[in-house]
Amino acid sequence: MGHIQLMTAALANQIAAGEVVVRPASCVKELIENSLDAGARAIQVHLREGGIAEIVVIDDGQGMDEQDAALAFRRHATSKVYEPRDLVRIRTLGFRGEALASIAAVARVRLTTRAVGAETAVRVAVDGGEMGPLEKVGAPVGTRIEVRDLFYNTPARLKYLRTVQTEQARSVEVVQQAALSRADVAFSCQTEHHVLFQTPGNGDVRAVLAALYGVGEAKQMLDVHAASNDYRVYGVIGRPTQARSSRGYAHLFVNGRPIRHPGIHQAVVQGYQNRLMVGKHPMYALYIEMDPSLVDVNVHPHKAEVRFSEEPDVTRLVSQAVATALDGTLLAATPVRARQPHVTSVQPLALDWRGARDAQAAPARPSQTPVQSDKAVREGLTEVYRPNESAPKSGLPGEARDQVVDPLAHEEPFAAVTSPHETIRDERPTEWSLRPIGQALGMYILADDGESLYIIDQHAAHERVLYEDFSQKLRDRGVFAMPLLAPLELTLPPVVFERAMEVQQELANMGLTYEPFGAQQVVVRAVPDIWQGLDVQRLAVEVFDDLKALRGDSVIEQMRQSVATRACKAAIKANWTLSQPEMEALCRSLVKCQDPFHCPHGRPIFVRMTNGELERAFRRIV
Ligand code: ADP
Ligand code: MG
Repeated sequence: MGHIQLMTAALANQIAAGEVVVRPASCVKELIENSLDAGARAIQVHLREGGIAEIVVIDDGQGMDEQDAALAFRRHATSKVYEPRDLVRIRTLGFRGEALASIAAVARVRLTTRAVGAETAVRVAVDGGEMGPLEKVGAPVGTRIEVRDLFYNTPARLKYLRTVQTEQARSVEVVQQAALSRADVAFSCQTEHHVLFQTPGNGDVRAVLAALYGVGEAKQMLDVHAASNDYRVYGVIGRPTQARSSRGYAHLFVNGRPIRHPGIHQAVVQGYQNRLMVGKHPMYALYIEMDPSLVDVNVHPHKAEVRFSEEPDVTRLVSQAVATALDGTLLAATPVRARQPHVTSVQPLALDWRGARDAQAAPARPSQTPVQSDKAVREGLTEVYRPNESAPKSGLPGEARDQVVDPLAHEEPFAAVTSPHETIRDERPTEWSLRPIGQALGMYILADDGESLYIIDQHAAHERVLYEDFSQKLRDRGVFAMPLLAPLELTLPPVVFERAMEVQQELANMGLTYEPFGAQQVVVRAVPDIWQGLDVQRLAVEVFDDLKALRGDSVIEQMRQSVATRACKAAIKANWTLSQPEMEALCRSLVKCQDPFHCPHGRPIFVRMTNGELERAFRRIV
């Protein structure tokens, strides 16, 4: 007797479910796709415990009759492809006919559906792949699918799930993508606690973006369109100033399908030329349309990737479309704004050397940067360079690039320096006092402590001093909430909003006071006083954004760091000429730092040459 037996359908489905259903978000995706394929105009998604406990998707699509409802959970049951030829002209989102079978194999599912024209709805429950009897019930036209206890019968997969928070974030992201993919369909997404967002379904992509990220962000974005013989590209992109530190704000759709495609993303980035700051990712919702035969959607079980037959053509068109949109707007920037590119400069905060600065009434002004070229001024390009790019790339005038204040130079990894004097020994004299001699090259303070000559990177030093000051204040609860005259209304992405609600008290302890306002908005009433004089709106957005990355036990410390480092970065924007008292104050503060040797990002603050080294260099001793 042989050992081989055919699997039961239930077992086969459970195994296959591993490919299609890896987490609640993949279920949400499949269910929404089915609703869209059914012609729904409105789709509601409810998530309980991030979708792990329950996912409910309700649509007003064409529904299923009794016969279809009975077949829908069978593997390879589909109404969307009938013959191989259909595969090359797929216009529906689903076509594999395995989503419902797979989901039903690993969860408790209940389907209630009423076909257009049918008198009643039918309801059927499928539990771990076992289908119960069909019942007739009353329900509106459309389909409601409830998926409970995902992976209850596959403990290994259940274990693989992340926290409720993470799973919810991923599920919500799927709904967001779907809402963006079909601006003509009204989506609503809610948890057991609140409605996260609702889109109007009026066909306007900006209206969707407004629902997701706030009206302010959506308004600023720029329209994109371009077409070639084979492809059409359209959508909206964020201005360089709207770029984010995560890629989660980049949305790409090919023939209506949300996809990931590093090549196209890169093409978008290229379209920004050098206008994105290092480490920032553009915000966009871009749509590419083409004949379905030019793209293969069947390369990935979740249909999340595609392959283009003529990829270079597509990427070229995308880059051009993005560049054109940006050029059009940024060239039109008003000279008034452009002429003052450096007014965002440093506002030293509550440091003891602020007094010195004020007394001198030395205006913050660029020292190293010569006068802006007329061209750069006219083009208003100054705020958008990527300063660390050494070789000028196409499109931007090289001379303008060189003049731009570099807000991020200090975030770049420190290049290894070969100078023998580079070594910084982490030791300091007991009675250490640094006497500044002067400023060199607009960025360095020369100083001596009686034993050595120091070349101090003024930005790095400033950042260190501010960082220690801020962190100390935050740790000691010495930070005061600085009430805002006009409260800030911010619309947060759903995931961020949820997180912000969870840590409301902790951030309030650091001076950032806000409360929920509507489903996804917060009103910020006060900010940490260490943000005084800075762009508090930007800082608040960044700190909220950072919440997404909170991990592990030290979340309070991570938030503290976020509040402090974001402020440091904002404060260290531009170069400025230091007066003698300012240099003295900075040196005084620096020597008191816990770590006067490294900036908060770990790069050295100064180069030191000891007297001995100098004597050797000048051959005074051998
Ligand atoms: P596929 O979408 O690949 O065809 P699924 O397993 O996702 O496979 O769905 C099987 C079939 O069930 C679909 O082809 C469709 O006919 C039907 N169906 C699923 N969801 C819905 C829905 N929300 N409204 C109407 N019909 C649906
Ligand atoms: Mg499907």
